[in-house]
Amino acid sequence: MSKRAVILGAAESGVGAAILALKQGFDVFVSDKGTIKEKYRDELIARHIEFEEGNHSEEKILNADVVIKSPGIPDKAPLIKQLKEQGTPVISEIEFAGRYTSAKKICISGSNGKTTTTLLTYHMFQKAGLNVGLAGNVGQSMAWQVAEKEFDYYVIELSSFQLDGMYEFKADVAVLLNITPDHLDRYEYKMQNYIDSKFRITQNQTADDVFIWCADDPVLKHEMSKRKLSARCIPFTLGTPPAEGAGITDNKLIINWEQNIFTMSILDIALQGNHNTYNSMAAGISGMAVNIRNEKIRESLSDFKGVEHRLERFLKVHGIEFINDSKATNINSTWYALESMTQPTVWIVGGIDKGNDYSELYDLVKSKVKAIVCLGVDNSKILEAFKNVGIDMVETQSMEDAVRSAYFLAKNGDTVLLSPACASFDLFENYEDRGHQFKQAVREL
Ligand code: ADP
Repeated sequence: MSKRAVILGAAESGVGAAILALKQGFDVFVSDKGTIKEKYRDELIARHIEFEEGNHSEEKILNADVVIKSPGIPDKAPLIKQLKEQGTPVISEIEFAGRYTSAKKICISGSNGKTTTTLLTYHMFQKAGLNVGLAGNVGQSMAWQVAEKEFDYYVIELSSFQLDGMYEFKADVAVLLNITPDHLDRYEYKMQNYIDSKFRITQNQTADDVFIWCADDPVLKHEMSKRKLSARCIPFTLGTPPAEGAGITDNKLIINWEQNIFTMSILDIALQGNHNTYNSMAAGISGMAVNIRNEKIRESLSDFKGVEHRLERFLKVHGIEFINDSKATNINSTWYALESMTQPTVWIVGGIDKGNDYSELYDLVKSKVKAIVCLGVDNSKILEAFKNVGIDMVETQSMEDAVRSAYFLAKNGDTVLLSPACASFDLFENYEDRGHQFKQAVREL
């Protein structure tokens, strides 16, 4: 009799998992507590995959041999607890997909910079002519691609939620960019739980595999001093280049890898700012780890176009540059955005705060910011936090007002930076909507 695979959540990853499970001969059932998007419902119907929506029917779920859960469903959901208690394996889509491909997997995680580094690495692999798929939080479901395509490599963005559902999966190359507090509500408010979740990216790695990590990140550094990993551990830093790894000397990015030395002027790197130098280093080491030629690595790091909503230099209006960093939803990413500002900056900030400590930004605000435009339903915490800095602060509750106010506060040669340090759900559908509304309002100036 065929084994039964139950898939919880019918969006990109769930439907992909269902398609792969079907191909692998499982008896497949898909259950989504909400409404399924038409595009995904049509896929399920076309393939005669049994599904339900608006409900989880326990009798059709508890008899599963394996459950593939969307990363959006927390482990503490009662149904998941029940499945785990009765010993049913509950895994993530990436874990499932990994079981049915022999492609080499380049996996990228961290609290910030995942999407940028994943897309940059993917760009590099494509430019080098490798047969590569893009998966994880960006692009198409990995399971779907494993079912229908034959790639030699996957570049995969992994969130901690996905890592939590991974057990046997092995990354050939794993990258950890940084670890700063985020999503702690899913980790019993314990930082160590979140750190352990991120380090699952190294589980099952052997001496033949590579682990690339940021040696300037205090949490990673401390953690690395405690752990004994089997993989080859390759650090990157803005300091002196390590014997094996990446660093900076005389404004040159240097990567030492086996007998090979890669060098490139940091002025030629497309993505500017220290945080992006880290991202470029991580991508560069990944490239060297799969033997991409230095010339191709250099080319890809210099011609990468960047990613929308991440420090995206959008438009200049009367000499004022508008930068869209709508994806900055926590203090750490906004810290790097402010740090990379080279002109007096009018900073648009606010939204739903996940417990921000704004004092971490004081020094940068004092040195880089000439005015603050608060944009949120409740701006009181921001107003209070920066009231003693002695710069103009205005309060707004729509993007149009925020952009107009920022425009009036700025003058020729200044920068207007949207880097909210907060989630967007008070006034916008999501960070993409917030970024698009920003760009629309700038176009209308
Ligand atoms: P993620 O996928 O991890 O959310 P993104 O690449 O989408 O990361 O970037 C999210 C935000 O973090 C953006 O505001 C971006 O400018 C900023 N950022 C990018 N790389 C880094 C990094 N290495 N460290 C800190 N912040 C970063």
